[in-house]
Parts: sequence; structure tokens; C-alpha cells
Amino acid sequence: MFELETKFKRLVKEILSEVKDIAKLFKRSGVSEKIFLSFVFYALLEGRSSVMRISREFGINYENALKVLGKLEGKWRKYLELLKEQIKGPVTILIDDTFSHKPYARLRNSVSNFGNYAAWCNEHKRFEAGVSFLTVILVDSEGGTSPVCALPYASRRLLDMGIGKEFNTKIDMVYEVVNYLKFRFNVKRIVFDSRSEKLVTDNVISELKSNRRILELVSASPNVDVEGCRHVKDLPEGEYIIKISRGSSVIEVKLVAVKNTGSINYVYSTNLKLSASEILREWKSRWNIEKFHRDLKSLGLEDTSFKRRDRLEGFAFLHALIARIVRNAMRKLGISSIEELHEFFEHCLHIYGGLLNIIKGEVRFT
Ligand SMILES: [Zn+2]
Repeated sequence: MFELETKFKRLVKEILSEVKDIAKLFKRSGVSEKIFLSFVFYALLEGRSSVMRISREFGINYENALKVLGKLEGKWRKYLELLKEQIKGPVTILIDDTFSHKPYARLRNSVSNFGNYAAWCNEHKRFEAGVSFLTVILVDSEGGTSPVCALPYASRRLLDMGIGKEFNTKIDMVYEVVNYLKFRFNVKRIVFDSRSEKLVTDNVISELKSNRRILELVSASPNVDVEGCRHVKDLPEGEYIIKISRGSSVIEVKLVAVKNTGSINYVYSTNLKLSASEILREWKSRWNIEKFHRDLKSLGLEDTSFKRRDRLEGFAFLHALIARIVRNAMRKLGISSIEELHEFFEHCLHIYGGLLNIIKGEVRFT
């Protein structure tokens, strides 16, 4: 019993200092620490944080909470100052995107007036009420992951249709985020899927579509017969150096063809010196960003709609921050699901009923 209490109190204390360090970064922009803490603690105690829920639970003024979200727009840049202090060694950048369904958004009005709530859904292959987010996380040399941002974007097609004009395209944002990161971190690799091939060109690990044309086969290992192989899909399992086109130029990449549940995956690196196992290991680290997407959603990203882009962006960024705090807490407790974390909190609060008040008192909710 005593051990559990100590564990819980220590954890709460650590979370408080983690949250306060982040809140300090945004203080000068008028982001209230109290509102920030409310969002985080709601997520830890109950799960899905939203403006409505924190105002009900902690007596936060609804309008003020919305304003705070707006002030968090673009603050991922500021947040990198803190990450830079915490992560010293080389990092891998993982880039992906996720579609957040917004079933409650009034599609027609929002699309025509604001363009915020229609996007292409990859899962259901159609335009739906929802928002596409660019997601970026850092993986450090010890395998620790740190979400950087979740930024709403518009596809070129939507922009051409005159919809979503408040948004940047994904490619614009990737350039900005990657340049920011390169300037501050020792970036050894950038990993993303084949849909994003045009986004970045240096130190890339990614995947080629199987119908991709091979311009020249420079070498193959093992020394298999590859005569007549014109497309990536013609290659059997193995390692290759091939030339492919990228835009108007020709590049040389190291390609690893590897069997994966029946079909073959074609993973490549623009750094020819990497071994096949290094390339595949980095490729597999993409799993971390899938986990991040799931976290964002189980922490309530899809529950709220906003008419203002700044608030939408702030809300998504806030959830990225919460995802990291939640993951850190889980790691310290040695548990693997968010549900278990809630159970732990619920259990401790049940035994030590006064702790919620201690937390509230500590963060001056009353
Ligand atoms: Zn869908």
C-alpha cells in the first residue's frame, strides 16, 4: 500500500514539473498554466481532454480555454527549445500523416466558409468531414520518442478547388518543420512512407512503390539474375543499388527487397553506406508514429471541432504534448496501454481519495 502511494505521489510530482516546464515556455504568449494543466490532468485521469470537459470538471472558463488553444498555434517551434535541452545525441525524424474524422462537423457550412473540415480519407477513399494532420516525431539514440507536432494541412487538390485556403500544403509544412529540426538537432535520418516521397531528399529512408521504374541496376546482392528487370516489382529478395528518377534528376539509392507477410516490401535509403539491417531497422521505427496516431485519437483529438484554424492547430499540438506526457508516465510505471494508466490513476484516487484534492491544490484549481 505504502509503496503504491509513494509511487503515485512521485509520479504526480514528476508530471507536474514536466507540465510546468512546458507551460513556462508559453507563459509570455499568455497561455495560462492552469488551463494547460487542466487539459493534461483531465487526460491522465479520464482520458479524452476537451474544452467542454475541462471547463465542467475544473471550473475553467470555456471562452478562456478556447483562447488558450488559439495561442498555442505555431508554438511547436518554441517547444523545440525544450526538446533540444532534453535530447542530446543524434535523432531520426519520422514523418507521416493521419486523418482525423470529424463526424459531428457540419460539413456543408464549414467547407464553404472555412474549409476546415473536409479532407481526403485514405482509409475510406473519399472526401469526408475531417482534418488531415501532418505528424512529426523524433526518435533519439535510446529509442525514446518525442512528438513534435500534429499540424492540419490542406491537399493541393482542395486548395485548387478553393477549399481550405487557410491551410498550408503538407509539403510547405514539412520543409519548414524539417529545416527547424535540422538546425537544432543532429538529424541522422528522415523516415517516411512512399506517399511522401517528394517531401525530403537527404538522408531518407522510405519505400518505393512496386511499379516504380528502374533506370539502371548498378549492383545486386546476392548475385541474382536480374536481366530484364524494369520495375522494382521484378526484383527478388535481396539488396540492390539502383538508379531511379526523382523529379527531373536521377538518383542512386540502396534498395532492400524483403518479404513481409506474403508480398515484398521495397525499402530504400539515399545513404548507400547503410547496411540492409540498418535500413530495415530504421524503417520499422515507423511503427512509433502509428502508435502516436493512436494515442492522439485515444486522447480525444477527434472529439472536438473548431471553426478557427488557430484553435484547431493549438488543440492538436496540445494533444501531441499530452501524448508525450502520458507515454512518459506509462514508461515510468512499466505499463503498456493508456487504459491501464487510467485504471492506475483511478485505483490510486480510489484508495487515497484525498489525492485528487492534493493535485488540485498543488495546481491551484480552487
Ligand atoms: Zn474515413
